[in-house]
Amino acid sequence: MAKKKKQYLAPPEPEHLDLVVRGGRIVTPDGIRDVELGILHGTIVRIARKITDPTHATLEAEGSYVFPGIIDAHVHFNEPGRAEWEGLAHGSLALAAGGGTCFFDMPLNSEPPVLDAVELREKRALAEQLSCTDFALWGGLVPGNLDKLAGLRDAGAIGLKAFMSSSGIESFPRVDAKALHAGMKRAAKLGLLVAVHAEDETLANKFTAAQKAKGKHDPKAWLASRPVEVELTAIRQALEFAGETGCALHIVHVSSPEGLALITEARGQRVDVTAETCSHYLLLNDKDVAKLGAPAKCAPPIRDEQRRLAMWQELRAGHIQTVGSDHSPSPPEMKTSKDFFAIWGGIAGVQHGFQLLMNECAATAAKDLPLLAAVLARNVARRFRLGHRKGLLTEGHDADFSLVDFGDEHTITADELWTRHRISPYLGRTSRVRVTHTYVRGCPVWADGGVASGAPKGQFLRPHSP
Ligand SMILES: [Zn+2]
Repeated sequence: MAKKKKQYLAPPEPEHLDLVVRGGRIVTPDGIRDVELGILHGTIVRIARKITDPTHATLEAEGSYVFPGIIDAHVHFNEPGRAEWEGLAHGSLALAAGGGTCFFDMPLNSEPPVLDAVELREKRALAEQLSCTDFALWGGLVPGNLDKLAGLRDAGAIGLKAFMSSSGIESFPRVDAKALHAGMKRAAKLGLLVAVHAEDETLANKFTAAQKAKGKHDPKAWLASRPVEVELTAIRQALEFAGETGCALHIVHVSSPEGLALITEARGQRVDVTAETCSHYLLLNDKDVAKLGAPAKCAPPIRDEQRRLAMWQELRAGHIQTVGSDHSPSPPEMKTSKDFFAIWGGIAGVQHGFQLLMNECAATAAKDLPLLAAVLARNVARRFRLGHRKGLLTEGHDADFSLVDFGDEHTITADELWTRHRISPYLGRTSRVRVTHTYVRGCPVWADGGVASGAPKGQFLRPHSP
């Protein structure tokens, strides 16, 4: 029998890559690597010391760190309904200017808040029009919307957010213990994560009344009205409920090392809980609040210097899983009052908070930039089940990244803010860090320190099935 002739296929034409990122230092949670990235159709398809494939475009990154796209799991862009507070276009652009490529918008401060599937879809449609970065959407857990949670899950909510103390927004009431427990039980059944704003309402009211009774209305009185105890009492309760219900719990904006200790202990007992802190708890102390006033007001409040330093220790010990901005701006009128209690609480830090964390790590970059890559990108993607395409600069993942330079010190000014209102606690602060470029799925959003033309539209992200 005649031997079958071997058939050889002609070698495929070498496909052009869309983009090669050359000469940069790639930051991963495991360390910093001098490699190049090859990008095709928005995806990283090649990582090598030297990429020789033909490419349509090249991005020279010599001397820069290539940082994974920051995923900010905690922003309030306030649209629809309160776009004059920030809005999705301004908010996403300010995020991109600071190296962010994806945000999760909180369900409140928009009007209507996102309490059911219809409201989620409405916000999604708007963000698909207006956002220049990718995004996911939180649904709300409030008294009375238990039967809407399945719909929120099916519409792609990234998780549910509940307030254990008053949210400051009338349309988004807080949950009492009973409502939180029932909500977490239902969420566990639905495979939804629950995030809580952990401050105890009764204690907060008690300490607030005590300050007001003394006729005190200054920043110091505000700090005294929400001592660490207020946070710890709420964290304890949420942890207990997570243990009982099996619900995945994410405690947002943990402000104190004592709060982290409770969470770390619960994690040791196999409670499914993660801790988020915010850049401002790592960058500011109580003296800054007294000095800066309204731009530095938030709840839980900024703590003392000893606690700020302890938060860095906790971060380096791996006890903080994610860092978000809790970007929550308001119009300037709401940031001015002689009564500090009456001022809108919320820090607008989405543009500078993360880069200032990098700046704090200038002298320890080799060790600490990988740590930041974990808490600002990889861990966030993993916790929220986006890890199949987000959070890491690795083959098969979306080409979301920024170029970060450590250069001469410069002073942060209001002119460089891309937020709607030029309010930030970081104005006047010096930094060596500059974010020169931000790419979302291989397309520039932010380039050479300015807005890139033809920036892509943001895509809606939903959690991967468990
Ligand atoms: Zn918030």
